[in-house]
Amino acid sequence: MKIGILALQGSYFDHQKYFVKLGVETILVKTPEQLDEIDGLVLPGGESTTMRTLIDRYNFMSKLKSFCSNKPVFGTCAGMVLLAKENTGFPTHIGVLNVKLKRNAFGRQVNSFEETVYINGIGDVEGVYIRAPYIEVASDYVEVLGKHKEVIVAVKQNNILATSFHPELTEDLKIGRYFINMIVQHNKKNKE
Ligand code: GLN
Repeated sequence: MKIGILALQGSYFDHQKYFVKLGVETILVKTPEQLDEIDGLVLPGGESTTMRTLIDRYNFMSKLKSFCSNKPVFGTCAGMVLLAKENTGFPTHIGVLNVKLKRNAFGRQVNSFEETVYINGIGDVEGVYIRAPYIEVASDYVEVLGKHKEVIVAVKQNNILATSFHPELTEDLKIGRYFINMIVQHNKKNKE
């Protein structure tokens, strides 16, 4: 199994270290063609507007859209913004996750925090929130996996996993294991 991490901008090195700890082969994805080599893709945290500019500059969009519609993908923070169908007040990017999302919803950088959140099917998970988005409305096929107070911070929609927080900045490997398991299930299904 090979996990690719979109490496245009943001915390891609931290994600790579995180999945290396879990014993998985990883590659940093810098060209659209590399999407053909991987079993799962991570869209890291960072700055979604900058990532979008680079996605367009390097002609990633059409391949990214088809990858994210079919194969396991995990978006954290800015990655979740990239996946959302609707970003209140901001443009849509990949637009495959059926949610209405609010960017920078927890306030500014100084309001960053670390917290444990209960994730359905996983248990308590540590996460770091840095100018994080949250989901205002989850619609068709979106399973809500976790909430911070009243707002949605973790979801799954078939092949897509997305969190408002950064698990890769903690020592808690549970979310990573969960994503690896999504890839295992996906690969099994495709072999049948
Ligand atoms: N605020 C960033 C955005 O909306 C996300 C921040 C992050 O990924 N930590 O793109």
